[in-house]
Amino acid sequence: MNENPVVLARCGSYDPDTLEEALGASLAALHLGEDFFRGKRVLLKPNLVLAKKPEQAATTHPAMIHALADILFDAGAASVTLADSPGGPYSAAALGHVYRVCGMEEADPRVRLNDDFTFRPARADGVKLKIFRMISAALDADVIVDVCKFKSHSLTGMSCAVKNLFGLIPGVEKFEMHNAFPELSDFSEMLVDLCETVIREKPFLAVCDGILSMEGNGPTHGVPVETGFLLCSWDPFALDVMAEHMMARDGRILYLDAAARRGLVSRDWREIPLVDEKGDAIADPPVFPLAYPDADAGHFLRNLPNFMGGQFTKLFEPRPKIMQKKCVGCGKCFESCPRHTIRMVVGKKKKARIDPEKCIRCWCCQELCPIGAVGVKQNFLIRLIH
Ligand code: SF4
Ligand code: SF4
Repeated sequence: MNENPVVLARCGSYDPDTLEEALGASLAALHLGEDFFRGKRVLLKPNLVLAKKPEQAATTHPAMIHALADILFDAGAASVTLADSPGGPYSAAALGHVYRVCGMEEADPRVRLNDDFTFRPARADGVKLKIFRMISAALDADVIVDVCKFKSHSLTGMSCAVKNLFGLIPGVEKFEMHNAFPELSDFSEMLVDLCETVIREKPFLAVCDGILSMEGNGPTHGVPVETGFLLCSWDPFALDVMAEHMMARDGRILYLDAAARRGLVSRDWREIPLVDEKGDAIADPPVFPLAYPDADAGHFLRNLPNFMGGQFTKLFEPRPKIMQKKCVGCGKCFESCPRHTIRMVVGKKKKARIDPEKCIRCWCCQELCPIGAVGVKQNFLIRLIH
């Protein structure tokens, strides 16, 4: 049995009063202790993966930030800073645009939007990561509150509390991580290293915004879906096992396998204590079977023996394709490709092209294309099987 509880609260809207009531009761049910926030510099780590409007469900809703600010200042927090490092440059210009479009500028005047774009080395002593760079805003905080979204994700299958912490790695260093760990199994171990490091170093709380979630081609180009709940826990692994079940993806998320192998969490959601905001046990949480990302069509190939040196999997796995008619030639995919396998072709109009040979299926190009012009090319046979 996992010891760390997860609180599930129904919350059907971002109405400030409704949200604050549900969040406040959820945190009370966790019994964090009076001094958890008192006098502390709190970092809110939202999911600001791309400059998207709140109603597109890719990013943490600003109402979550406002409600949390009320609760944190009431609990005596000394300061509350909001910081994230989306893909691309970690700079004032890039983040200013993201803050604006995502509604963070209007979220709450008491919350400081991070303007320190420095980063420093952090020791991990993990399976894959020994030392890595983390944004200074996180290193300087006393408490980290991971304000994640309940989303489908083309690479990892799900984005929730654990994956959201990848945004503590500064800007383009994230592409280096994809480059260093091209296999999803290795990338998953790295995510667990990162998450373990964060929760070992600081008091930690995860709050999942599952009011408006994203299915399909998340984390940025999926479809918003109303799910109407919040999940809270001080254990990001326990929260994610519960989220995996509530997304109807039991056993599918590799980083949770990695966490379970290390004894960090049970792989069975039934072994995680789940309570409502009054503290009463929930035996049967609601399940929202979110549509899978298109990139997931070859999921089962990962479990096949690695014969032909992985060429078989490479041949049949879905891969990204640029929708030429849609592409506006902005070059964001070109800048974000860890394998430099995208080139910009200048004809009548500038367009992106992918060299499939060197592609590692990290899906960064799809995630960061601002207009959703990166689709999925599926092998005919896999399409039939799927
Ligand atoms: S990011 Fe999207 S629109 Fe921009 S060049 Fe790449 S595919 Fe085209
Ligand atoms: S083309 Fe896209 S999926 Fe392939 S390596 Fe580059 S960014 Fe990753």
